[in-house]
Amino acid sequence: MTANTANANQTSPVTGNICRWLCGDAAVRLLRGDMAPLYMRVETKAGPVETYYFVQQVRDEESTQCVGYRLHKEDANGKIVETHFVDITWGCTQPEAWVCDCKSARFGRSAKPCKHARGLAAALNRIGLLDVN
Ligand SMILES: [Zn+2]
Repeated sequence: MTANTANANQTSPVTGNICRWLCGDAAVRLLRGDMAPLYMRVETKAGPVETYYFVQQVRDEESTQCVGYRLHKEDANGKIVETHFVDITWGCTQPEAWVCDCKSARFGRSAKPCKHARGLAAALNRIGLLDVN
């Protein structure tokens, strides 16, 4: 008990992958078609990589069903430098079936979904939107 109290004020280094919304109303924003800011930190062989995205839900114009998400990546000046589309039509509640258009997903050797699909799924799950169609 004494040891725990003594360590309580120490900050431990953050490790592992992190994916979190940078606004309190991400679900509301996404459902009304607006962009929601998302922070992603991914551990790589070269060290952690931090990226900020603006996420936007994409709906089919006719059926209005959610067909995927656009992840707009910004540079330090707030300029969009890259956009990825994560297609969820092969299984909206099964992130392992999501198809991203990034290089890693198209040409990568891993059978696992790319960092965009995995991070997005974790972030959507946290705000109750993983199974919303
Ligand atoms: Zn991707």
